[in-house]
Amino acid sequence: GGTIGVLGGGQLGRMLALAGRNMGYRFVTLDPTEDAPCGQVADEQIQANFDDVEAARKLAALSDVITYEFENVDAHVTSILMNESYVPQGSELLYTTQHRLREKKAIEAAGVPVAPYAEVKSAAELKEAVEKFGTPCVLKTATGGYDGKGQWVIRSIDEVEEAYDTLSRAKTELVLEQFIHFDKELSVIAARSPRGEVKAFPAAENIHVHNILHQSIVPARIPSDVQQEAEKLATRIAEGLGVIGLIAVELFLTKDGQLYVNELAPRPHNSGHYTMEACRTSQFEQHVRAICNLPLGSTELLSPVVMVNLLGEHIEPLNGLIDQPGFLEDTNLGVSAKVHLYGKKEAKEKRKMGHINLLTSDVQNALTWIERTRIWESK
Ligand code: ATP
Ligand code: MG
Ligand code: MG
Repeated sequence: GGTIGVLGGGQLGRMLALAGRNMGYRFVTLDPTEDAPCGQVADEQIQANFDDVEAARKLAALSDVITYEFENVDAHVTSILMNESYVPQGSELLYTTQHRLREKKAIEAAGVPVAPYAEVKSAAELKEAVEKFGTPCVLKTATGGYDGKGQWVIRSIDEVEEAYDTLSRAKTELVLEQFIHFDKELSVIAARSPRGEVKAFPAAENIHVHNILHQSIVPARIPSDVQQEAEKLATRIAEGLGVIGLIAVELFLTKDGQLYVNELAPRPHNSGHYTMEACRTSQFEQHVRAICNLPLGSTELLSPVVMVNLLGEHIEPLNGLIDQPGFLEDTNLGVSAKVHLYGKKEAKEKRKMGHINLLTSDVQNALTWIERTRIWESK
């Protein structure tokens, strides 16, 4: 037992608390929004901003162990939490994964390939790098980006000035990446505990729509040696970076079988939601196990699965279908739908409201189910 403090009250914290409460832990979350998804299921929510020092002190005082559900945690707050409570994940992992350049260097140092990249400090340097990598290439802010925000795909050398001017307004370093003409995007979530045990979940094949994750397909439709290689790379990163807790590793797979890491997230990841019903241990239980230094659970896949996200615009069509016979159990297709909702009141467009795990013996049947329901037609 004991109390786990969670910085951030979103859906990742909510599902973490739901898993951890089943294991006998109490949860306190800190989040500025009233009735946050995690606050609804935690024992207590401290409603305050993430940079509120007094609130951080209160979280530290109430918690035996502290974790976070996003990576952009303020360094000052981290140091308070580390001094006044126990943050097993430490500050270094956050420091590394908060910044694309530091992250890429750490991945390379672990002996894992990333797409060729260059730091650019001026429009002239950007022009030089674009000439070197060729077009298209991708300019990204080093910090703060998510859902493809803070990125510019440079398709011609004429865009250099505008891309540089626009992204440099973010007042952070910029990094140019070679464009990887990937065949598939994959992710692997690995866990490592303080005792040094490491376990990776099966690789997921991820499909994005408008830079937001739409589907994760597991097993990924790739050769088994590539699956194993992806899981090996994630394990190497977990060990090389001395990760405690979860590390989500996003990868590109090219036609000729080459894997490159795109980016990391030191927390539960949307592409790992499939583990909730499809694996022996969910990513959330595994994170609790890792930060509490318990033996890690089996990551065995119990069933093929497709996870599909429910964004704000999908809630109305979902509500129109959810009480239909055959929606949750489609015996013709052999698909069982497990619906997860995050308790968010306003179904705003693009907002992550929930997800559905489709358990099946053949992922193609789940993909057919998705098409037939037409919930995701207006992507
Ligand atoms: P997230 O919400 O996953 O944190 P993000 O804003 O941090 O997103 P990335 O994951 O770096 O952004 O990129 C978003 C998407 O853009 C990737 O999933 C991929 O589809 C595409 N992309 C990014 N970098 C490259 C690249 N170098 N080559 C090809 N495609 C890329
Ligand atoms: Mg990212
Ligand atoms: Mg990403």
